Parts: sequence; C-alpha cells; structure tokens
Amino acid sequence: MTNLALVVDTWTRWVGILTKSVEEVRADIPFLRTGIIYLDNAATTPTPEPVIDAMLEYYREYSANVGRGLHRATKRATEEFEAAREKIAKVIGAKADEIAYTKNTTEAINIVARGLVFKKGDKIITSLFEHHSNLLPWQRLEQEKGVRLEIVGSSKECLLDPVDFEAAIDKSTRLIATHHVSNAIGSIQPVEEIGKLARERGVLYLVDAAQSVGHMPVDVRKIECDFLAAPGHKGLLGPKGTGFLYAREDKIGELKPLITGGGIVEDVGLHNSKLLGPPQLFDAGTPNIPGIIGLGRACEYVMDIGIEKIAERERKLTARMLEIGDFSKVEIYGPLGPNQRGGVVSFNIEGLGPHDVASMLDELAKIAIRSGHHCAQPTLRHLKVNGTARASVHYFNLEQEIEKFIEVVGQIASELGA
Ligand code: PMP
Repeated sequence: MTNLALVVDTWTRWVGILTKSVEEVRADIPFLRTGIIYLDNAATTPTPEPVIDAMLEYYREYSANVGRGLHRATKRATEEFEAAREKIAKVIGAKADEIAYTKNTTEAINIVARGLVFKKGDKIITSLFEHHSNLLPWQRLEQEKGVRLEIVGSSKECLLDPVDFEAAIDKSTRLIATHHVSNAIGSIQPVEEIGKLARERGVLYLVDAAQSVGHMPVDVRKIECDFLAAPGHKGLLGPKGTGFLYAREDKIGELKPLITGGGIVEDVGLHNSKLLGPPQLFDAGTPNIPGIIGLGRACEYVMDIGIEKIAERERKLTARMLEIGDFSKVEIYGPLGPNQRGGVVSFNIEGLGPHDVASMLDELAKIAIRSGHHCAQPTLRHLKVNGTARASVHYFNLEQEIEKFIEVVGQIASELGA
C-alpha cells in the first residue's frame, strides 16, 4: 500500500468508527425489532432510542414548564428547549434565532401564509407538484384576500424548470413556494436555481423541505431561501408532532405568530400588549417541550451518522429499488436519473389498485409502504392516475430488505397483475 493509500484507508476507517453504522442505527430503533420491513419513511420515520431517552429523561427528571419560574427544573427545561434551536440550525446552516418551533411542516408553511401581510393583487407562484400542505394555505389567501395564485410546472417527470418561474414573475409577485423533494414521486427540484432567481428579482422564496431535511444536505444559505419548512418526524428521525420554520434573520421579524397568548409577552395591558421578539414569539402557550427536546437530540443523532452518508446510502438503495421497473407490468413514475430522485419510488402494477399492492406487501412479507394520492392530488391527476404505491427509504434500510421488496413486487405482478 502506498503512503497516500494508507492515509486514506486509516482516515476512512476513523470516519467509519466515528460515525454510526447501519447496524448501530438499526440496533437503536426498537420499532424495527418487530420484524417489519419499513419502507414508509416519506410518511414518518421510526424513532431511535437516544431520542426516546431524551424525552423520557425530561419527563422523569425535570418535567417542568419553560420560560417561567426560577426553580432548577424549569431552568433546565428552558435551557434544553432553547438548546434545540441551535441543534436544528446546525443541520441547515442557519442561526438559532432563525428557527421557530412548529408541530409539523404544515404549521410552518401556515405561519408564512398567515404571518406575512398579503394584499389584493399580490401574486404567489407555486407548482402543480406540491403536497396539499404547500397549496391549500396559498389557496386560502387567494379566496380570502384576493391574492393571485399562479401554478407552474408541466414536465412529465414532475421536475420544475426555473424558466417557468422566471416567466411567471411580474411586478406584483411577492412569493415563490416550492417543495425540494416530491413526496409523491421523489423528484428533486432545482431549489438553488429558483432561490437565486427569487433573490435577483426581489421575490420571497419558501422551500417545503419535508422530504429533504435529514435525508440529504440542505443549506439555507446556498438555497438563498427566505423561509424553509421542515418536519422533525421524517428525515431527522425526531418525534411525531414536531417540526420547524427557518425564517431568515431579516425576515423573521415580519412574521406574525399564528396564535397569541401567554408565554410570549413582555408587558400586558388591558387593550394592548408588548410581545417578545422572534423566535420565542412563536411559542405561545405551553409548547411540546419533550418533543422539541427530542428533536434537538434527533438532530445530533443524524449529524452523528453524517447527512452526506445518509444521502449516499439512500441513493444506492433507491437505485436498486428502481429495478422493479424491469417487471413488465410495473410502471414507475418520476425521473429515473440518480441525482434527480430522493429516496422515494412511486409505482403501479397493471391490473391492480395501489391499496391492493400495499396490503399484499404487508400480508406476504410484513413490508410497509404507502398507497393512495399521497396528499398530492394535482400531481397524480397530471400523471393521469388516481393513486400509486410508494416505497421510501432511510439510512437504516437494509439491502436484503430491498431485495425482499423487489422479489415480492415481482411475485405480485406475475401472479396477479393483468
Ligand atoms: N410537504 C411534503 C413534501 C410532505 O411530504 C409532507 C408530509 N408528507 C408535508 C408537506 C406535510 O408535512 P407534515 O406532516 O410534517 O405537516
């Protein structure tokens, strides 16, 4: 071995030791011990023991409220709760003060839709391929405030073209809102190009990163977005009922909170009150304290694995899953290029409904996938189908699990497909 090869080999081994292996991560996830082959990660992901422990530790050792009182338990709860902002921020290259806690991605998008002041005639541009959570909040503004909603996107593979956004921008355009990775068919969108365009044209840009954060590197400074909405409970392996909104430091002050009340005030009079500034401004009432502390721990956990390593593994597993397209009765939707698809494979078997396929995979081999419209009905209408079967991976999935999935899909297609 040459000296250079030796250095590279030693380094790789060290990185291997310092990061978490697939086996270690699997051993950390109790849900996987039920024998399930879990390929429904686009819906939500299972929770590793250290994240569960962080929540239990809160309940067992310092189960107090945050931001109020001076006793030791409340002080610790406040410290741990606030520390999660820093941990989340690190994952996406932001600052702690740019992170507002939410209960999911949907709430984060709604904070922007309800929290910015839009007026009649303002234009919002979004795409045909959004999750309903990144469409309905804008529809509501269209109905209630007379905002003009323009929907772009036409490609068969559901890939967005920045040129379409460029053509749609006019003098009254205030905001562009797009997803990063499609939950319905997995396409990866050119968010950096769209972000650059938005910046140049003085338009705000919101990214729905529900399927990318934790699954692949996401850097808000590179995307140049103003807002980014994400869940805790998907790529980050965090608790259910958690998520966050990133809002750039010069924009977060423009957002009004969705709810108001106790816990976010400096001084309250009978008709007027002075509120706290962001990001605590978004924490009215008692928040999901254990959930947010668990989310902070989950961020450390995925950073310990290494997000680039997660992305690399998901790419490999997905490329293998795409081989179900070789069965004559299987149709796969979305782009097939390796860098155009996240860890999602959406498909149908000729002659069978997607719910039948999902039930059979469960019954025959304990394989969990999702079926239906995936909260993206306009996307599926565009593809001229009512629903699809959808398998989606995370780092902890095994090659053998993917082999089993391919085998059983092949069996269903040959024995029952039309
Ligand atoms: N956007 C996309 C692209 C999604 O995949 C999802 C969840 N399936 C959402 C938004 C909504 O996320 P949440 O459940 O965290 O509100």
